Amino acid sequence: MAIEYYDVLVAGGSIAGLTTARECSSNGASTIVIEEDHEIGTPEHCGGMVSLGGLQKLGVILDSNNFQNSISKARICSRSTSFEMPAEKQNVIVLDRRGLDKQIAKQAENAGAEIRTRCKFKSLSKNQSRYIVKTSEGEIECKYFVDAKGLGSLKDTGKNGILASAQFEIYATWIDGRTVEIFFDSERYPGFFVWIIPSGEGRGKIGVAGRGINTSLALNEFINSKGKKYSIIRKIFAPIWIGGPRPPFVVDRTLVVGDAAGQTKPTTAGGIFSCGMAGILAGKAISKTIEKDDNRSLYEYEKNWKSMFQKEFNSMLFARKVLERLDNKSIDEIFSSLSKKTIKDVSNFSDFDFHSSALDLFLKTKLATDLTKILIENEFRRVFSSKNDN
Ligand SMILES: Cc1cc2nc3c(=O)[nH]c(=O)nc-3n(C[C@H](O)[C@H](O)[C@H](O)COP(=O)(O)OP(=O)(O)OC[C@H]3O[C@@H](n4cnc5c(N)ncnc54)[C@H](O)[C@@H]3O)c2cc1C
Repeated sequence: MAIEYYDVLVAGGSIAGLTTARECSSNGASTIVIEEDHEIGTPEHCGGMVSLGGLQKLGVILDSNNFQNSISKARICSRSTSFEMPAEKQNVIVLDRRGLDKQIAKQAENAGAEIRTRCKFKSLSKNQSRYIVKTSEGEIECKYFVDAKGLGSLKDTGKNGILASAQFEIYATWIDGRTVEIFFDSERYPGFFVWIIPSGEGRGKIGVAGRGINTSLALNEFINSKGKKYSIIRKIFAPIWIGGPRPPFVVDRTLVVGDAAGQTKPTTAGGIFSCGMAGILAGKAISKTIEKDDNRSLYEYEKNWKSMFQKEFNSMLFARKVLERLDNKSIDEIFSSLSKKTIKDVSNFSDFDFHSSALDLFLKTKLATDLTKILIENEFRRVFSSKNDN
């Protein structure tokens, strides 16, 4: 039997793989996506929070069937205080992620791509100018290989950037209609937080991540601490990546996109936009390479992704480094020192997809002085508590 051939083979049929496939096939490349799961978008491991602007850049028109909610504000809580930020201007919405992936799969299919579920990538080898991809369904040859397999592809790069997470979808009348809530507690959720994403009347996605914690236990404790009735209708346990991008994204004729390349935000682990854009940029680079018959064009993918996101990701990595060191006293002090004006200014300037302008603004306010003082005291407490531990 003749071996199958495609110009592009994408392993992984989620946001990054599907946007790559859509882009390649729209430009005439024969493209196949292989997905190990039995259904595109399932099992869902996402809160579905995305900005309308980001969605538009991903080439997706909001489908009312996938829309769950729009976010009006964020409430950020420490153990003993909280503040609220209006979020109307950021146009943030909550989507059914399974529906979003299927919508992009349909776009890719309309453009000529083939999608094959229940087909697992096994190995890659090279035969002159072609790759041979071993899958659970047999061998496929291709010229360009795209690794969009998610975090599984990152496992050899060290564990420091990976956190365990749990997210439960629940019915509960106490979920605040259009308010996203974030709860910091450096003892219970070290290095991350609890989130509540309201997904419609009396419904929400409540999640937690943190270093070295039992996420299931932590989340159950959090939900029970509300002391009110709820029902859990879905549980997700999945790792998140907060370690920043892991280049090179291009080696030979292999491109790595999305979570597989560490392209999720180091602050929140959000990846729909930055991973989806990676797919588009990778697809454009492959298309140009085919058109010009010059492999050097492949490297434009990495260059263009970095020029769009690297500065943002550097700011987020900095913010993460600070967060990882803060104890609860410092978090309380920082929240208490935020003036109404600072919060308003920052919310006016902040962009859900690009945080660095908001961070720059923060650092120009009086908070920068307060923050320095709080951080120095924080470091003293760390030193003294570790001395007492010894
Ligand atoms: C609990 C949780 C909540 C989140 N909430 C948000 C949010 O609200 N907003 C946001 O922007 N981001 C969120 N994210 C992050 C977001 O889901 C990811 O960044 C995004 O899905 C990454 O897309 P991807 O295509 O790179 O990888 P993935 O979505 O991980 O997809 C990888 C695909 O590859 C397939 N695969 C793996 N191995 C193989 C193989 N051997 N052969 C074939 N197929 C394979 C998998 O089955 C999967 O379909 C959340 C993540 C988690 C865990």
